Amino acid sequence: MHWRSRLLHPSRRAPEGFRSLVPPVHRGSTVIFERTTDIRDDWHQAAHGYTYGLYGSPTVLDLGARIAELEGARHTFIVPGGQAAIATVYLAFCKAGSHGLVPYNAYGPSRELAGGLLGRLGIEIETYDPAIGARIAGLIRPNTALIWTESPGSVTMEVQDVPAIVAAAKARGVPVALDNTYAAGVLFDAFGHGVDVSVQALTKYVGGHSDLLLGSVSVANESLYESVGSVWSQLGMAVSPDDASLALRGLQTLGIRLERLEASALAIARWLESRPEVEQVLHPALPGCPGHDVWKRDFTGSSSVFSFVFRPQIPAAAVAAFVDRLVFFRKGFSWGGTTSLAMIYPDLRRPGRDYAGRLVRLNVGLEEPEDLIADLSNALLGGPQRDDD
Ligand SMILES: *Cc1c(COP(=O)(O)O)cnc(C)c1O
Repeated sequence: MHWRSRLLHPSRRAPEGFRSLVPPVHRGSTVIFERTTDIRDDWHQAAHGYTYGLYGSPTVLDLGARIAELEGARHTFIVPGGQAAIATVYLAFCKAGSHGLVPYNAYGPSRELAGGLLGRLGIEIETYDPAIGARIAGLIRPNTALIWTESPGSVTMEVQDVPAIVAAAKARGVPVALDNTYAAGVLFDAFGHGVDVSVQALTKYVGGHSDLLLGSVSVANESLYESVGSVWSQLGMAVSPDDASLALRGLQTLGIRLERLEASALAIARWLESRPEVEQVLHPALPGCPGHDVWKRDFTGSSSVFSFVFRPQIPAAAVAAFVDRLVFFRKGFSWGGTTSLAMIYPDLRRPGRDYAGRLVRLNVGLEEPEDLIADLSNALLGGPQRDDD
């Protein structure tokens, strides 16, 4: 054999049986079939064996299996990001002529998809008040194909009565999907509360270090596994095994990170509550947050992200200057990593309320809470701006 052919067909290999604690990174598009009679194109790899890398290498399927186990799901599909997870669910349940329901405080790009691409496909998505609870029954139509929930909602943090919505939806045979990112799939038991599909931006707490983008779509039962899987497989939701490997690493410390983030975020939220400049702290574990009683009933903990609103006398420009004075809280999108973040929303409005640029969302990281409180305190008092960024 010419050495150039030998490059592709080596006769020597490393020994097998390396029993690392770490799940291996399996790269691959093509999967080799032993005999021609074995050749098939089938996305059900978990049941029928490997066929093609697009449907997930063992690293990606391992991550899916672990998320499914954590959430108590029949199966978890791993997708390239949280937004990809949301798009997959919409396309799995809705078709031209369908009606869907989404809370008005849902993740921004999710609402953009609802009003943009889905509208062009002839799918009508209606927004509803996240506090609606059982009254959602009044919005269900004969063609309602999907009800989204997200609890707590993005930025304004309203906690939803998911069990009441599930009960109303089940009575009409409508599936309920939950964006369970805030709870990291563990602080709220989606399937125990009757949800059909739970999605997560694994980008946030499972990744946990702001170095990857991944999402998950977890389904409750066999028929949803088939219906969601057939759409997921057509969308080409390829996932890098390297990213999946990082998420598997993140899972190992998810428990201890969540515990620490909860304690730090609560300490900071309580301190903010005591400040005269602050009108309202929107943290699900504090009574000032809409839906706090539901949170107490249904959640086993809180996490790192919450918002607060300055008093009306404080103009938007002063709020922005406050955020610019922060040193430990960096300015950037996303959350759930190890670094504290602050974000302003100059145009944020909700039905009946204009926040007029006075809302700040914080993601609390793993810095010492005393340092974070000192940072917030200095910025409130007009301390110096950092000069290195
Ligand atoms: C960040 C986020 C998403 C989107 O996740 P990406 O991985 O960034 O696409 C979806 N839902 C919620 C609630 C989020 O916070």
